[in-house]
Amino acid sequence: MALLKAFSRSQLTLLRTSLQLSPAVRNSSGLCFDFSDEQKEIQAMCRKFAREQVLPRAAEYDRTMEYPWDLLKKGWELGLLNSHIPVKYGGPGLTSMEENIICEELAYACTGYSTPITASSLGQMPVLLAGNEDQKKKYLGMLTEECQMCAFCVTEPGCGSDVAAVTTRAVKKGDEYILNGQKMWITNIGHAKWFFVLARTNPDPKSTASGSMTGFIVEPDWPGVNIGRKEINMGQRCSDTRGVTFEDVRIPKENVLGSEGQGFKIAMGSFDQTRPTVASGAVGLAQRALDEATKYALERKTFGVPIAEHQAVSFILADMAIEIEAARLLWMKSAYEIVKGAPNTYCSSIAKAFSSDVANRAATNAVQVFGGAGFNTEYPVEKLMRDAKIYQIYEGTSQIQRVIIARHVLQKAKRGLL
Ligand SMILES: Cc1cc2nc3c(=O)[nH]c(=O)nc-3n(C[C@H](O)[C@H](O)[C@H](O)COP(=O)(O)OP(=O)(O)OC[C@H]3O[C@@H](n4cnc5c(N)ncnc54)[C@H](O)[C@@H]3O)c2cc1C
Repeated sequence: MALLKAFSRSQLTLLRTSLQLSPAVRNSSGLCFDFSDEQKEIQAMCRKFAREQVLPRAAEYDRTMEYPWDLLKKGWELGLLNSHIPVKYGGPGLTSMEENIICEELAYACTGYSTPITASSLGQMPVLLAGNEDQKKKYLGMLTEECQMCAFCVTEPGCGSDVAAVTTRAVKKGDEYILNGQKMWITNIGHAKWFFVLARTNPDPKSTASGSMTGFIVEPDWPGVNIGRKEINMGQRCSDTRGVTFEDVRIPKENVLGSEGQGFKIAMGSFDQTRPTVASGAVGLAQRALDEATKYALERKTFGVPIAEHQAVSFILADMAIEIEAARLLWMKSAYEIVKGAPNTYCSSIAKAFSSDVANRAATNAVQVFGGAGFNTEYPVEKLMRDAKIYQIYEGTSQIQRVIIARHVLQKAKRGLL
């Protein structure tokens, strides 16, 4: 009754009419957990490609650490890369929901393969969010005309979590900016056609981060760009991670994204859009860990029975399943918020933090279920454990996600909204 009183007479009439007219609405809970037919098709196509072509080569790429160009080209031909680039710039023009469906499937097969794809999406995001028409046509077009990658350069040797402490400098001289500084741990940079670079343009140390940094598009063959050696990482070893230095690099003013001083906001806005893909990638890895552990638990016998029949083992699988289902719903919710155009910083951080932890627990548990074999490189799960760790570090560590989440929780309380 209290609810009914809250509606005006005209609102109630409208509500009754729509309920009469639409049985779907009458029977609906207001939530929909089904993918559309098109999304199901994308998922099935991507799953087939990932499991038939990527997964069988994952161990080889892990061993050689070779950048997976041939598989990236195949994925590009299927339209699995650059998924959010609009059709008018040659992309598939998919939403964040489809992008995450794709990401989960690719990560299931190999996160060393899915990370270069999502890192390229991260590099594109500042152009999508703040680029002008010419920049979009030129730089997004480079990635859709042929299989090319881009990169996102924010982290420096001296700062990662504290983006406001960026020291790379760009000084305006006539129609150009002169860029000097160093970036570190940049995915794809050794193979990128261009990259987003965040640099300080206001030298005043007292100026706020939000007004003192500018985002630029930089090309690798410009004089003064020196790309470092490939770093040898714990996991996702075929992904390309390097440092880069900029020595008096001349950037034409046409390559400023948005306007001077907007760089910090553009970089942070990009993370909001791409953190769900870190989450969906982590879920893909966790699902793979569960599937591998389940198959092994049914095959491996101890004390005369498959180990799956020991409750201690089957409960490990159950706990993995519980967390994976919850993590999947979180990436879906954060992708849904992006599609809806709603603020998604809070939910993206929750999805990223939770899924990263889930992936790490799932991979560790899979190794446990495999016993001694889990510790060996002949079996697939030790790679999953090595690959999982980075999810708690890149695109904002798990601690930084908790800083963001706690800030939202506390702000809500301070505004009297509890
Ligand atoms: C394989 C790989 C790929 C990467 N790809 C990219 C890329 O493409 N582009 C890019 O720009 N960067 C990239 N990075 C960098 C990555 O985003 C940073 O490493 C990450 O943000 C952490 O920064 P940091 O390494 O400087 O650690 P630090 O910031 O020095 O943090 C060290 C530790 O302190 C904790 N910490 C720091 N501040 C706080 C705080 N306020 N409260 C609580 N804990 C805190 C952190 O959580 C962490 O545990 C990549 C890194 C790796 C390893």
